[in-house]
Amino acid sequence: YLQINGVTKRFGDFTALEKVDLSVEKGEFVTFLGPSGSGKTTTLMIMAGFEKATHGDVLIEGRSISRLAPHERNIGIVFQNYALFPHKTAAENVYFPLQMRGVGKADGLRRAKEMLDLVGLSGMAERYPKELSGGQQQRVALARALVFEPSLLLLDEPLGALDKNLREQMQIEIKRIQRTLGVTTIFVTHDQSEAMSMSDRIVVFEKGRIEQAATPLDIYHRPKTKFVAGFVGESN
Ligand code: ATP
Repeated sequence: YLQINGVTKRFGDFTALEKVDLSVEKGEFVTFLGPSGSGKTTTLMIMAGFEKATHGDVLIEGRSISRLAPHERNIGIVFQNYALFPHKTAAENVYFPLQMRGVGKADGLRRAKEMLDLVGLSGMAERYPKELSGGQQQRVALARALVFEPSLLLLDEPLGALDKNLREQMQIEIKRIQRTLGVTTIFVTHDQSEAMSMSDRIVVFEKGRIEQAATPLDIYHRPKTKFVAGFVGESN
């Protein structure tokens, strides 16, 4: 479904990514795991079409991302800081991507509210972001990324700002929603246990390269490199 082919990214003379190759199946939940600065976000930005690869290409259903117009890419994105519009209610925030696609207000707000129900925020549609907790704001951001039925969902450390309990609750919630919708998902984290519990496949990054891409069990029991063994073993 999605292919990263020989992607290299340089910022000046610094190489952030070096010949990254990966394919992702439709409906798969893939986690990018690695230490800070290993290239996870840069890979995600190139997949989203926000950054251009220095070499190589990203293909969605065989078509280069750089040749697709933003609305053809059909990608939902959630960042760590949520980036909700403060002067819009939860429902208006979720309606926004539909508005950009020309959906009328009555129909759009109705769909926004259905999506807020799905993420467990029934009854909070009229609240402003500052009237919601961190976890609730996170759910609004997730609803906004999903409302236009994206074929690909990119989540960049979406749970980083939440406390431990809420984080665990949201991990379960994200998995439930992802399974319900069957949306192909790339999830970025540097938390080993989060990666272990959520993923169909884990891709371990280190210094701009992929060390290993495998199921959580294989990563844990059959680490390919010393780095993977050390990084995944650390928390245990
Ligand atoms: P984190 O977990 O801290 O978000 P990461 O694995 O997502 O880390 P990236 O954000 O992909 O790492 O960064 C990879 C490397 O590229 C880092 O060393 C970073 O400093 C560098 N880098 C990223 N964006 C730029 C930029 N716009 N200009 C220069 N260097 C950059």
